[in-house]
Amino acid sequence: MEDRNAELIEKILNLKHRRNAVILAHNYQLGEVQDIANFVGDSLELSQKAAKTEAEIIVFCGVHFMAETASILCPDKTVLLPDINAGCPMANMVIAGKLKRKKLEFPSATVVCYINSSAEVKAESDVCCTSANAVKVIESLDGKEILFVPDQYLGHYISTKTNKKMILWPGFCPTHVRIQPQDITRLKLEYPQAKVVVHPECRPEVIVLADEVLSTGGMCRFAHQIEAEEIIVGTEIGIIHRLGRENPSKRFIPASEQAVCPNMKLINLEKILWSLEEMSPEVKVPEEIRVRAKAAVDRMLEIGRADERSKQIGYPNYRCR
Ligand code: SF4
Repeated sequence: MEDRNAELIEKILNLKHRRNAVILAHNYQLGEVQDIANFVGDSLELSQKAAKTEAEIIVFCGVHFMAETASILCPDKTVLLPDINAGCPMANMVIAGKLKRKKLEFPSATVVCYINSSAEVKAESDVCCTSANAVKVIESLDGKEILFVPDQYLGHYISTKTNKKMILWPGFCPTHVRIQPQDITRLKLEYPQAKVVVHPECRPEVIVLADEVLSTGGMCRFAHQIEAEEIIVGTEIGIIHRLGRENPSKRFIPASEQAVCPNMKLINLEKILWSLEEMSPEVKVPEEIRVRAKAAVDRMLEIGRADERSKQIGYPNYRCR
């Protein structure tokens, strides 16, 4: 198996070089995929990387909406998603037609879409956000009423941090809802010294039990900076690979072994190689939708740039190759 992987890795690296490609991988990807990527990060970090890359081809190891976001930001580049079936069930819980009808019900609301949404939904939104910047994005808006899609749990978490009136779409992440409050309570008894970090896509009953509520990128910075040697991690378990690799002296305990996103696990080394060989499957957003969706994504990135100018983040991004 190791020999097979070594052969695949060599072929991928050669082809990546020949094609002037960059491999971007989400924190929930399989360890073997994270290890071959040029950059591993959360949705915000990956969209920032996609926007800045000089490579001609982006191999996006994540799910469909992430590859679409790269295509929205980089229309002149070829964006490959090594398995076209890697979708996000939460993103599929809102469609543009239904959102249009909801907007008619709340004409004065500002529409904020979580980045986990299709390009069509982004095109119907005023601004986009990720779990890393959601509170900042919403606080920066003039409007007092926010129509938030699609994640009701992230939306609920934001509502506890802002005075805005939040109208929540009833979407959710099927992976994060598997993490139950009793999982956290049991692990806190087992590891009394451990810190608990959870993702804001978790249920509110889980969030109230956490020491920190963070995006996956935030969890990686937290693990690096905190002195605690044991950390209970309430998100998709793929992130444990990165956390362990970057912090070998610390112990990371998954809040639930059930928190596995099957879509994130569809991509593997074979599919990355096939994708680079065949230059397929390509994800391309139609221009009319792309331009409107880009306005929502650009607005988010601009809010982030303004925030970065006022506060530099000290921890370097994770890089393998
Ligand atoms: S973990 Fe949840 S939000 Fe993320 S891709 Fe999987 S289903 Fe979508």
